[in-house]
Amino acid sequence: MELSILTICYLIGSLTFIIGLKMLSHPESARKGNMVAAVGMFIAIFGTIFLYQENGVGLHNYGWIFGALVLGTVVGTLAAKRVKMTAMPELVSLFNGMGGACAALISVIEFGHIAALYSGEHPDQAAPTEGTLLTIFLGLIIGAVSFAGSIIAWGKLNGKIKDFSFKGQQVFNLVLFFATLAVAGYLVLAIDSTNYLLFYGILVAALIYGVLFVLPIGGADMPVVISLLNSFTGVAAACGGFLYDNSVMLTGGILVGAAGTLLTVLMCKAMNRSLTNVLIGSFGGNAAAAGGSAAGSQGAYKEISISDAAVCMSYANKVIIVPGYGLAVAQAQHVCHELEKLLEEKGVDVKYAIHPVAGRMPGHMNVLLAEADVSYDKLIEMEEANDEFKSTDVVLILGANDVVNPAAKTDPASPIYGMPILEVEQAKTVIVNKRSMKPGYAGIENELFFQPKTSMLFGDAKAALQKLVAEIKSL
Ligand code: NDP
Repeated sequence: MELSILTICYLIGSLTFIIGLKMLSHPESARKGNMVAAVGMFIAIFGTIFLYQENGVGLHNYGWIFGALVLGTVVGTLAAKRVKMTAMPELVSLFNGMGGACAALISVIEFGHIAALYSGEHPDQAAPTEGTLLTIFLGLIIGAVSFAGSIIAWGKLNGKIKDFSFKGQQVFNLVLFFATLAVAGYLVLAIDSTNYLLFYGILVAALIYGVLFVLPIGGADMPVVISLLNSFTGVAAACGGFLYDNSVMLTGGILVGAAGTLLTVLMCKAMNRSLTNVLIGSFGGNAAAAGGSAAGSQGAYKEISISDAAVCMSYANKVIIVPGYGLAVAQAQHVCHELEKLLEEKGVDVKYAIHPVAGRMPGHMNVLLAEADVSYDKLIEMEEANDEFKSTDVVLILGANDVVNPAAKTDPASPIYGMPILEVEQAKTVIVNKRSMKPGYAGIENELFFQPKTSMLFGDAKAALQKLVAEIKSL
């Protein structure tokens, strides 16, 4: 009876993960989707705690279980509440690292039982099957790589860890990786009382590999790496599901693994780079400025005053706002929404053009604008926006740079060549707000800023928008 209720709990858990994930694909339903999946997770966890039984014995170490649950809930809630939107990728990385650590710990604990047999502590115990050993080793290696890599990614994103590489590191990494796999394979086939301690050597090797794998990758490429590590954690968790014959853990792990892989592929596509290039290239790191031309080499640019910009937009028929990373840094989403409402009151048609990799994480701009209650039907995706720019009077770029850089189409030598961009230069007038002429993430100059139809509106996005709003109100 109890087992069947537990099975139903797991079924509900698995279904809610799938439904929740589907709902996450649209900003309007994303919040609810998260809740749906969380409720499913709650049911699966508490079902396991109270209903799971092995040989008629249920879980009993409730002190440890609830102690950890309370601690995790408090730390997780505080971290999520306090995190700034721009630091979100860091938090995701840290949380992902914890998932990897959990998956690796499952393997360590389960191997502890097996080790008892070979160390002679429980000589009567049955020998593990090759399938069990394979699952334990896979969970250990993938989980440990994901944990170590995510912690390095977290450190890089918050500036505590610098890019590091040494000559021949790629070769060293490959040798370490294959050696680790080879030893694990050997143990799966021939584990006995003379070699079982190699398990812990594999754990150490996987941790070192995780560190060395992420250390040389450019700091700004971390979101892609985090997404990849996220898929690793999913696979490692799925190994735990196999090990415990636990369907909800298996489903959850597979979903995370698949979602992480798809996201990695999509991010690479949106940047027009291969995964190999992200993993061993230097784009976005300290050497990011390698491509493109030197600042100022494109000639003169013109500036626009707040009052001219206000007039220009107030008397336009159609304005498209292009938000970017700078808008997120400045936390200017609320005042941006205020500007939009003000212009709409004056009869201007206002929309937002959203580039898939604007900002520093997938969906960054959608989340940011949703926070400011911007209506979803005002957000248009890249393809639609590129059709609409022709009929647009003013494009207002707020802290975006690479996603509007025409070099992606015109300069085969540019590191962003081939990346699909928002073709804002098709509009009649382009106003660019940023603080200086400094480059963005890719470290390259933007010829758009020097085109005759472009005017620069220098300043912090929030301050500039506040002034614009005040000016438009006074018109
Ligand atoms: P960029 O990083 O290209 O440019 C942002 C611009 O914002 C900078 O040039 C900066 O100029 C300006 N800025 C910074 N702070 C402020 C501020 N307070 N007020 C006004 N402006 C400010 O951003 P984009 O959004 O255009 O492009 C995103 C980049 O990130 C792409 O290259 C993408 O490939 C990459 N990326 C995105 C990921 C994602 O998932 N979204 C993942 C990995 C990479 P200044 O200093 O002069 O103010």
